[in-house]
Amino acid sequence: MSSNPSSPQPTERAALFAALAAAPAFDIAIVGGGATGLGVAVDAASRGLRTLLVESHDFAKGTSSRATKLVHGGVRYLAQGNVGLVREALHERTTLLHNAPHLAQPLAFVMPCYALWEGPFYGAGLKAYDLLAGDAGLGSTRFLSRASVQSALPNIRSQGLKGGVLYWDGQFDDARLALALARTAARHGALAINYCAATGLVHEGGKVVGLTLEDRETGAVHEVRAGCVVNATGVWVDQLRAQDAQALARPVTPIVAPSQGVHAVVDRSFMPTDHALLVPKTADGRVLFAVPWLGKLVLGTTDTPRQDLPYEPRPFAEELDFILRESARYLARPPTRSDILSCWVGLRPLVKPSGDDAATKKISREHTVQVSASGLVTVTGGKWTTYRAMAEDVLQQCYARQLLPGQAPCRTQRLRLVGADDRLPQDRPPMSAPQGRQGYGSDWQTVASTPGSERMLGSGVSEAMVRFAARHEYARTVEDVLARRVRLLFLDARQAAALAQPVAEILLDEGCPAPEAEAFLALAQSYLPDART
Ligand SMILES: Cc1cc2nc3c(=O)[nH]c(=O)nc-3n(C[C@H](O)[C@H](O)[C@H](O)COP(=O)(O)OP(=O)(O)OC[C@H]3O[C@@H](n4cnc5c(N)ncnc54)[C@H](O)[C@@H]3O)c2cc1C
Repeated sequence: MSSNPSSPQPTERAALFAALAAAPAFDIAIVGGGATGLGVAVDAASRGLRTLLVESHDFAKGTSSRATKLVHGGVRYLAQGNVGLVREALHERTTLLHNAPHLAQPLAFVMPCYALWEGPFYGAGLKAYDLLAGDAGLGSTRFLSRASVQSALPNIRSQGLKGGVLYWDGQFDDARLALALARTAARHGALAINYCAATGLVHEGGKVVGLTLEDRETGAVHEVRAGCVVNATGVWVDQLRAQDAQALARPVTPIVAPSQGVHAVVDRSFMPTDHALLVPKTADGRVLFAVPWLGKLVLGTTDTPRQDLPYEPRPFAEELDFILRESARYLARPPTRSDILSCWVGLRPLVKPSGDDAATKKISREHTVQVSASGLVTVTGGKWTTYRAMAEDVLQQCYARQLLPGQAPCRTQRLRLVGADDRLPQDRPPMSAPQGRQGYGSDWQTVASTPGSERMLGSGVSEAMVRFAARHEYARTVEDVLARRVRLLFLDARQAAALAQPVAEILLDEGCPAPEAEAFLALAQSYLPDART
């Protein structure tokens, strides 16, 4: 623990495992370091519970680094009539913008209209969205003339354009938010360890009482005791559920229906603006976004059911075709395959309906919390935007089942995350600007005083950022740095590959034994469309 409570804490790996060995038992052990598990860790630790979180890969390596980056109520879910989910998400949107202003910001969306009925039709829906937001609204929905749409969305197809509707939502940096959660949990006393897999559950007398863990760097095995074990492993939750059921000789039915979503990133010149574009109805009845983000334009997404659960899913050829085809309906100069700088794929942990509806785009985005006969708590589904409310629900259910001691109140509603600073919104660069100091918030001073702050490696990444990632943000490999501490892999895979070697050298110097530069080069290649489809 550092002496100054506001200075960044070290995340030295040997110290993390020493703390694990020294801890007699935890009140709560959480498996999974994505949005869901990290949210539970922050909630539990800030209530004063002895909290452990383990992540088998890197924090946010799973779905939580692969979102469309929207902090939103979800206009699509409103169209589906899911008012409760939208209202909760709109409330959480405001909470997140307050608690992590360095990582989440309001964003104006423009929906262009090419038929006269579209303006009043979609405008009425978006006014309802405003009404649901109430005090949590970020700005009023308004109708735009054809000329205003053209100036808000340069390169929009003008033929047949009638006008448009502008409404407000938010956007964020998902992987950096995950890291801020891990560090916030740690600041409140939690032990959060990446590259540490839960390999088994420990049962006694039919109850789950702990976990076996494996340090993925050394292979060392540890056993920990915990009064409450939470399975927050995203699309992978059924694996721990199956282990639990097997130990109790009980049947188990999988609850996750994974669905993949693809994003293609192109140069900002395809829509040089701070506004996002919303396509309200694609050919397959979904919505499509073009979102300016960290200096590039993110196009997406898709919703394709798949059965397997790879950590690096590849897009299906037709998914990229779909994104490019839909973009071409709206952009006067549309991007082609060769314009794609990076494409990434995430697996949604959708909770299966009890019936057999195979269309994942219709499955609810709500979360579910289940407690098994052994007391294993499983949470999955939901959205990044609602991670805090999900965590509160998990903790409430744990208390209700007497899996946790006491009944401390939830504190996360107004709990600012590590890095949150007090700059005024107008003093912050928009999240559409290339990445730089913005995502560090109040940590920037420390980054600026870290050795190498003057040495730029390229693409806005400095030597000091890499050192900071290793010292204070749990980074172990080149991928950890270039995919999730700075987001270069997601923005431009070729530029990320170009930095692999210098980043590896700095990590070695920081005591990371295996930065895995070669593996990163192969990964970066696979983020380019030709190699993948
Ligand atoms: C394409 C797409 C776009 C999206 N866009 C948005 C958006 O714009 N806004 C929004 O609010 N939401 C969005 N979402 C939803 C959001 O990203 C997810 O709901 C959220 O990230 C899920 O987080 P999670 O923690 O449940 O899962 P994950 O992030 O996958 O985390 C689970 C973690 O568990 C770990 N794990 C698995 N097994 C073990 C084990 N045995 N031991 C230790 N760790 C283990 C995994 O490595 C993984 O890191 C999107 C989702 C997708 C797929």
